[in-house]
Amino acid sequence: RTVYVNGEYLPETEATVSIFDRSFLMADGVYEVTSVLEGKLIDFDGHLARLERSLNELEMEKPEAFDDLLDIHRKLVELNGIDEGMIYLQVSRGSAGDRDFVFPDPEVVKPTLVLFTQSKPGLADNPVAKKGIKVISIEDIRWGRRDIKTVQLLYPSMGKMAAKKEGCDDAWLVEDGHVTEGTSNNAYIVKDGKIITRNLSSDILHGITRAAVLRFAREAQMEVEERPFTIAEAQDADEAFVTSASTFVMPVVEIDGAKVGAGEPGPVATRLREIYLDESIKSGI
Ligand code: PMP
Repeated sequence: RTVYVNGEYLPETEATVSIFDRSFLMADGVYEVTSVLEGKLIDFDGHLARLERSLNELEMEKPEAFDDLLDIHRKLVELNGIDEGMIYLQVSRGSAGDRDFVFPDPEVVKPTLVLFTQSKPGLADNPVAKKGIKVISIEDIRWGRRDIKTVQLLYPSMGKMAAKKEGCDDAWLVEDGHVTEGTSNNAYIVKDGKIITRNLSSDILHGITRAAVLRFAREAQMEVEERPFTIAEAQDADEAFVTSASTFVMPVVEIDGAKVGAGEPGPVATRLREIYLDESIKSGI
């Protein structure tokens, strides 16, 4: 696999980053994941805009190659022959050659930019989407700026492990009695035809897939309500699902051992998955 590091395309075995890099020592980095379907980048503009926002919020410099990111994505897709899969991008504040809590001078220390591809055949035609996933709920103890897409993923990773231990697929995070989001996705329920998902704030990541799915839902005359909901309300809903760049729209059929609706993917989630895949491939670049 060919990867990109700070201006160079290299075999993955030859790509290196300093041990003093601040993303390694301090989780001082942000990332984006863009999916590739039929060789095209899905929702690329949204991911780029959110990357810029994450950098701004952390007063991190844009990497020098920021304006070339579309070309870099496309070149990696081509070099690695990716038809279906993902591109991971990470920007860190860089390495000052030492460990210090104080941010290094941006005039001296430039951000580190890394990109690599992951081939995932069967991403769109995913058999898991036909069955749906099971989730557990756990307390959301993450920091308060979840709207910034940082590489601090230890707690979400622990949440996924806790789910696996219980024979489930993922965890929904709960704060003050209400679901914030999934470990790596936004969470939704459907009741009497209405799609309910938490409103945007610093409590959740502003999902790029969320924005697109809500737009398609409204265009299809589906009713959408953006507000927090509880686990009890979700267990009593007709349907539940999650969205993310790597799973698109994924039905949730069980929450903390209770079946949601009939315990199988519902019509709203199934239809939204179809619309999202159709429309986002059409507008892919
Ligand atoms: N919330 C969290 C916590 C996430 O990690 C992700 C995926 N990175 C999402 C939501 C979904 O965002 P997107 O649709 O942009 O992938």
